[in-house]
Amino acid sequence: MREVILHHSLTKDGSVVDYTAIRNYHINTNGWRDIGYHYLLEKMPDGKPTILKGRMENETGAHTLGHNEAIGICIVGNYDITELPDDLYMLLVDLLDELNKNHNGIYVMGHNEYSDKSCPGKNFPLAILKSKYPRTRVETEILTKRELKDILLNITKGL
Ligand SMILES: [Zn+2]
Repeated sequence: MREVILHHSLTKDGSVVDYTAIRNYHINTNGWRDIGYHYLLEKMPDGKPTILKGRMENETGAHTLGHNEAIGICIVGNYDITELPDDLYMLLVDLLDELNKNHNGIYVMGHNEYSDKSCPGKNFPLAILKSKYPRTRVETEILTKRELKDILLNITKGL
């Protein structure tokens, strides 16, 4: 089970930056050897939504204070102001599905759950993605009658 933390690409001054700008900032200003995220989703100049690779998945990231062992994904845009475009959302779900397979399960968190930033943005569909990839199964999934019976049995037995 691997944690995935989502971000948007808002800078301190509120403007939106792309992969190259983020990478340059991380390397030249922060002094890191590469971009701090593991993946970055961005619309190319021709409008095509694209997944760009940053760090390797087995490398520690540099995106969320105290939680950099998680896979960091940044979606270019300011989702405090705009809505996440459908095509970027679908690409993100594709990527999360693949990570889910490769890591024997993932759960999704927003950067704003670990900091006072709004990242990945007020309009970002974080709640939907969190319920799709929950931290624990019982958190959001509806239990079958059988599972419920087993749980009740175990409680009765004091397990
Ligand atoms: Zn963030």
